[in-house]
Amino acid sequence: MMPVEEIKLTASFRVDLTDVDEAAISEIRHLFAEYRRIVNELIEHAHSHRTTSFISLHHAKYHELRQRYPTLPSHYIDTACRHAASIYKSFLELKKMGVCEKEKPVFKRWAIWLDKQLFKLDIEGWRASIAVHGGRWITLRLLHGKYHDKFRDMKLGEARLVLKDDGSLYLNVVFRQAVMLPEMGADAKVIAVDVNENVIVYGNDDFIERLETNEGIIRTRYFLKRRRIQSKIRGKGLRARLLGKYKGREWRRIREVYYNVAKKIIGKAKEAGATVIIMEDLNVYKEDKDSKELNGRIHRWGYRRFQRILEYQAKLHGLNVKYVDPAYTSSLCPICGGELEEGSNGRRLRKCKRCGLEEDRDAIAVKNLTKRYYGECMDAKTP
Ligand SMILES: [Zn+2]
Repeated sequence: MMPVEEIKLTASFRVDLTDVDEAAISEIRHLFAEYRRIVNELIEHAHSHRTTSFISLHHAKYHELRQRYPTLPSHYIDTACRHAASIYKSFLELKKMGVCEKEKPVFKRWAIWLDKQLFKLDIEGWRASIAVHGGRWITLRLLHGKYHDKFRDMKLGEARLVLKDDGSLYLNVVFRQAVMLPEMGADAKVIAVDVNENVIVYGNDDFIERLETNEGIIRTRYFLKRRRIQSKIRGKGLRARLLGKYKGREWRRIREVYYNVAKKIIGKAKEAGATVIIMEDLNVYKEDKDSKELNGRIHRWGYRRFQRILEYQAKLHGLNVKYVDPAYTSSLCPICGGELEEGSNGRRLRKCKRCGLEEDRDAIAVKNLTKRYYGECMDAKTP
């Protein structure tokens, strides 16, 4: 039997604020402020009771908050409890990893979690309604997005209402869809994907292809642009706005690159009859703090985002995705497992000390990831 999996994707709808009257805007602002106050109060409680559990937060605070905010739709208190629990949980995780110096988290964003009782979406009519105080609803007109038509056939999930620093308002809606995925067995044909700074390499034992993404170059350019803004613009507000604008622009450029790469890989997988896409399991890196090679790469901005995009697109197109342990995939021989050294012909080539194999280092990573997949399939069979 084919495994069935539910995939999720967030659609970001920009709200047309020219269509919203003053009273509605101030009502929405009021909602943001109240929700944020509640979330921070819940975080405070979570912190003083050292709990990350939604249920205990809800149990301790729900009735009190209901009484203090009688006209606020009660589901906002539910979602605020979930939201606070999740913020406090990620705070404790960061703390554990030693990368957070703050004593306790403070929720500073303008973001509201909405469950299905708090919003209605009319995707055909490009409208959404949000529940506000006193059982009333505010209807918002949504602007058409580039990729939004595909959501029509998907199941509606929860949403987030987000107010950006520049004053724009977004409704981010999660959609779900059940997909049938092929079995990941030892007889599956696969394509392994290796992500580097400016190039993504993919293939298997039969072929290797390289795609120039120039991601590192794009990022360096935006980094320099932001540094110029930092040093030249005096006004704090303007500086923050400009930095935000370029950050957004950079991410949109890179996201477009990622989507194009994902499309090409999926096209190639179909053409080659591959049913499983293999990527590096980046979680493994976390535990391996001594490895310089691996550590530089986890911080790589966007790597996980690329993986998420490729995974989602692959599953949507009926391909399965497997993450394998990437340790030593660039330093060991894919044929005999021997140690590799610099090849004779420049930096790209690597040579095996033991069996003499000489191969491009990109091809080596792809072949090792492929090998590891089949190795894990074998391990799973032998108890
Ligand atoms: Zn070898």
